[in-house]
Amino acid sequence: MSRTEYFNVAEIFGENVFSDAVMQERLPKKVYRKLKDVINEGRELDLETADVVAHEMKEWAIDKGATHYTHWFQPLNGVTAEKHDSFITAPMENGRVLMSFSGKELIKGEPDASSFPSGGLRATFEARGYTAWDCTSPAFVRQDAAGATLCIPTAFCSYTGDALDQKTPLLRSMEAINDQALRLIRLFGNTTSKRVTPSVGPEQEYFIVDREKYLQRKDLIFTGRTLFGAMPPKGQEMEDHYFGAIRERIAAFMKDVNVELWKLGVTAKTQHNEVAPAQHELAPIYAEANIAVDHNQLVMETLKKVAGRHGLQCLLHEKPFAGVNGSGKHNNWSIITDDGINLLDPGKTPHENIQFLLVLTCILKAVDIHADLLRESAADVGNDHRLGANEAPPAIVSVYLGEQLQDVLTQLISTGAATHSIKGQKLETGVRTLPEFMKDATDRNRTSPFAFTGNKFEFRMVGSQDSVAQSSVVLNTIVAEAFSEVCDVLEQTDDFEMAVHDLIKENATNHQRIVFNGNGYSEEWVEEAIKRGLPNITSMVDAIPALNTEKSVALFERFKVFTKAELDSRVEIEYELYSKEINIEAKAMIDIATKQIIPAVIRYTTVLAQSVTAVRSACDADVSVQTAILTEVSSLLADTRKALVTLQEVTEQAASMAAGREQAVYYRDVVMRAMDELRTPVDRLEMLVDKSMWPMPSYGDLIFEV
Ligand code: ADP
Ligand code: MG
Repeated sequence: MSRTEYFNVAEIFGENVFSDAVMQERLPKKVYRKLKDVINEGRELDLETADVVAHEMKEWAIDKGATHYTHWFQPLNGVTAEKHDSFITAPMENGRVLMSFSGKELIKGEPDASSFPSGGLRATFEARGYTAWDCTSPAFVRQDAAGATLCIPTAFCSYTGDALDQKTPLLRSMEAINDQALRLIRLFGNTTSKRVTPSVGPEQEYFIVDREKYLQRKDLIFTGRTLFGAMPPKGQEMEDHYFGAIRERIAAFMKDVNVELWKLGVTAKTQHNEVAPAQHELAPIYAEANIAVDHNQLVMETLKKVAGRHGLQCLLHEKPFAGVNGSGKHNNWSIITDDGINLLDPGKTPHENIQFLLVLTCILKAVDIHADLLRESAADVGNDHRLGANEAPPAIVSVYLGEQLQDVLTQLISTGAATHSIKGQKLETGVRTLPEFMKDATDRNRTSPFAFTGNKFEFRMVGSQDSVAQSSVVLNTIVAEAFSEVCDVLEQTDDFEMAVHDLIKENATNHQRIVFNGNGYSEEWVEEAIKRGLPNITSMVDAIPALNTEKSVALFERFKVFTKAELDSRVEIEYELYSKEINIEAKAMIDIATKQIIPAVIRYTTVLAQSVTAVRSACDADVSVQTAILTEVSSLLADTRKALVTLQEVTEQAASMAAGREQAVYYRDVVMRAMDELRTPVDRLEMLVDKSMWPMPSYGDLIFEV
């Protein structure tokens, strides 16, 4: 689509989605009702209904040009997976084929599970795995170079029913919080809401670089991040990129991304430049958690695909460039009833809203007790470079409430009752012609990992390439637990008001250590957090054990989100994933240093040496500069070679170890250190060697010349 072409968003929005409107139009009334019951009330789907739905879905998809269908699922390797089948059936006698798609094919798929991570849940010889239609997330047609494909969002399980994906536990956790939140609001007299669903709005950060340059960086190609690279003269210190005017080339890309996403029913809403040069953000309007998770996968896929069409490359890694801001994904989370009541909405006078205060203090309790799990949910290999680093939330989980709620809580804790709420003031700009409006009662705190932002919490630890599923699973389940505990008390009491009041006070008092409203990036906070006994888990390897502690197993088994076996398997998978990724990074470094950097530096030293001899034989001029550079470069070259040999040795050693915690720890403590030691002399060499001889584009080339 050219830049001058305009279009109507409302017309294209959702045009490739088998949406409620399409279903209503195409399905016989009875079938439509049945399906809605399945979707809204979790009824079971019968094959007869599935057959009709499948048929209509196929007809609709074929109208959109679809030739294939795929069960689209999210295994535990971080990307979405799909296997395509065409609609054609065996040729008939006249040689023609029919296009068919049965209910059975819609609801059940059978990919070979042995090639996906399962962490011991399934031996390779027991390869069966099933994908099952998640009818709560709409099917869609994806159009690209491969043609058009009907994509059916599915959950992925082993032959024994163990979850092998992100979606299964997410759906289970949504049921858990639905059950417990309904219990809670019933106690407060709500008899009309039928369902409570967690809503998620994931904000996605990413980098865009020129594809030609990207292709000259083997580290970016193999690992998604740069493994070498000296800092350019200008970094982000001018802070001139954040919210800056969007360049034409990027704007054209963003426009196409939006169009693609809108067609897929993804409500792409906000886009802007981020803090680092070449860094941007895209946020959709929030949706029910499982749809939001699916949509976020589509957002990531679309960013990558459309970037390619514009000669660009999208980097979703959390830390593509050392020393430059990393990318995250904010999980904006709230709990909303089917009739639109947000349980996290404090209203204008929160001190009077006891249901809200109970919900809020339950969340404080949940986050305090399970801070380790929440931290784990944001653990991924790339995020280790970000969490605890300067620009991101530190690895300590704490909650920001803001002035207004903090004040209410303080009143509650100190006097046992809250009598007033701080109100928003008029914004005074000192300029009469500017409109006057009321400020929010509370400022924002961008340094908090878990911040209350008006009517939702924003969990900011998640990594940019990670799924928002795990953090949503943890939030849903830990809050379900806290709700169930207060309901246990409230369902037994004779004096409801008093009991609610006591529970609010108890939760607020017992868990106030998790609340921190100050600067989360300061050194003092790290020390203060230690005093408060809050965990500061700075690496993925140390975060993983939280998954299958006794506390975690009890929590997840109680709410039927994970079995112990599933948790154990995830622990195994995560250690393995960690080791594999670092192994790839180490091998990529070895490869680049051996085949690109050392040869380039040797060429440069040869040129220098020749220059020394040439100048000397031509005249007796001063060659001290050439000699000085030659000496320094040669010495760094020797350091490089030495570090390279060490890295080779420790990487071989690591790869020979049995998979598991010990191996992952070795990769982190020994291999990563050896990687750093190789990087140091190479980055210094980059500053010395003739730019035209350096074998790859620099940081400056990558982030300032898009
Ligand atoms: P902020 O400036 O705090 O980041 P935005 O309005 O930009 O706020 O919202 C960020 C994300 O949070 C968006 O995806 C938005 O749709 C989502 N969001 C807004 N309200 C809610 C809510 N009640 N529950 C979940 N997500 C929400
Ligand atoms: Mg935000």
